[in-house]
Parts: sequence; C-alpha cells; structure tokens
Amino acid sequence: MRCPFCECSFPLTWARYLGAPAGRHACPACGRRSRLRPGLSYWALLVLAASLGGIPPALALGWWPGGYWPVAGWAIGGLISGAAIDKTLLDAGWRKLERPEQAA
Ligand SMILES: [Zn+2]
Repeated sequence: MRCPFCECSFPLTWARYLGAPAGRHACPACGRRSRLRPGLSYWALLVLAASLGGIPPALALGWWPGGYWPVAGWAIGGLISGAAIDKTLLDAGWRKLERPEQAA
C-alpha cells in the first residue's frame, strides 16, 4: 500500500489488516493515518465472493451434523474467504489509501 502523505509504500501484513477493520492505517514511515476508500462495487463483489466461499462448509455441515450448523458454516466460511479475498485485492492495489480529510 502507498501512503498518500509521504508516498512511501509499505506491505499489508495480516496483523496490520486485522488491526484495522475500519480500513484505517497508520503509515510506518511518517505515522500519519490514512484510510481505504470503500467502493460500492468492490463490496458487492466481496460479499458475492464471500457467499460463494461459505457454500462448501455449509454443504459439509448440512451432511453432518445438520440442524443449524450449515448456517454457522456458511457464515464462518464466508468470513474467512471474504477476508482472504479482501486482503489479496488490497495487496494487488485495488483499493488506494487516501487522506482522511481532503480539505487542506
Ligand atoms: Zn507516510
């Protein structure tokens, strides 16, 4: 990811990713905070991909033990695959960091 203030790029680790659920990241070089812009089409894609990722564990848990477990499997599988896809897209530079307030 690239800092919008000092233009230095820094890697997005899992620790950094999980420590910033709202998409706010502090630059390791200048320490200033920037955020990731949430895009509607991006989130739609992510939700779709996460839903697909939850289907295999839901099917497995529907076979055994059944009951309400497929719902839990779908939620957890979707969450894990959604996070993995989200981080992969962030690494690929699909979302850019920007300054929290554009007014100078
Ligand atoms: Zn910086």
